[in-house]
Amino acid sequence: MANAKAKIGFIGLGNMGAPMAANLLKAGHLVTGYDLSSAALAALTTAGGIAAANAADAASGADVIITMLPAGEHVREVWLHQGGLVEVARRIGPKPLLIDCSTIDVASARTVEQAARDAGLDMLDAPVSGGTVGATAGTLTFMVGGSEVAFARGTPILQAMGKNIFHAGAAGAGQAAKICNNMMLAINMIGVSEGFLLAKSLGLDWDKLHQITTTATAQSWALSSYCPAPGPVPAAPSNRDYAPGFMAALMLKDIKLSQAAAEAGNVPTPLAAHAVEFYQAAVDAGDGAKDFSVIFRLLSQQKRD
Ligand code: NAD
Repeated sequence: MANAKAKIGFIGLGNMGAPMAANLLKAGHLVTGYDLSSAALAALTTAGGIAAANAADAASGADVIITMLPAGEHVREVWLHQGGLVEVARRIGPKPLLIDCSTIDVASARTVEQAARDAGLDMLDAPVSGGTVGATAGTLTFMVGGSEVAFARGTPILQAMGKNIFHAGAAGAGQAAKICNNMMLAINMIGVSEGFLLAKSLGLDWDKLHQITTTATAQSWALSSYCPAPGPVPAAPSNRDYAPGFMAALMLKDIKLSQAAAEAGNVPTPLAAHAVEFYQAAVDAGDGAKDFSVIFRLLSQQKRD
């Protein structure tokens, strides 16, 4: 499928799915999409895609079926329910490649992949990193789990949406890599926020602090590309009232996933446990649909005990 134009069914056209589908269209693929939101379907049509009436219609006749949904329950529902995408894909010949790009629990990823395998289909878990900016620029990092054969089939498609495509291992390994990544990011975002708050109280200019720390040992993606304090990174959500981006509610989901995995494996992750409380507080304060960097604003409103 290297340079061939593929027929792609894309389900879940939200903050990430929409720009990913747009990049598949730019690469010359034919994209038929479905989302529960009519605004998302209208945006796909504007980008040159075809809006389907439901997920099964989007997938029918596809070479590749991709999902980009919020959480494990949505992924299980869309792929496995009666008449779901595995069933639809099983009836297509030649057999389509199935790819789930959502961030979900490893167990759900393995359950769906097993169902696909039982139906004679190749499936990849291929969660992403890089945020909406990376999704729009087509520079996402893909962390992929699945067989060598499935990975080889999927790579040219993923390359239309991303820059770094890693084969992490067997089914579920992509999700394992992703929850480790997001656990580190969740903690790091709080650390960066605390640094900027302290700088303010010390009378330090935020642009200066940013300039210094991005070339010093504190450098990180949360700092250099996504600064939670308004000002230093113009494209960051902090400069647009924390419009997402990556919603705090989704970060809470991810860090709960990493905590569940840590508990199951008896792994000590005390900072991640504390970070859960921060993102939970953001959601409880009504900021669940804001970008996760809203943690900075939440902290700025608090007083030290
Ligand atoms: P989002 O909520 O903006 O998009 C999800 C879309 O799925 C919505 O448009 C929703 O209407 C649609 N949807 C839900 N159930 C559906 C169903 N049954 N059928 C069809 N459509 C359905 O979320 P997002 O930010 O695009 O994130 C998607 C996934 O990517 C999540 O798992 C998230 O954790 C992960 N992720 C997000 C980012 C980011 O920066 N936003 C970065 C990396 C990974």
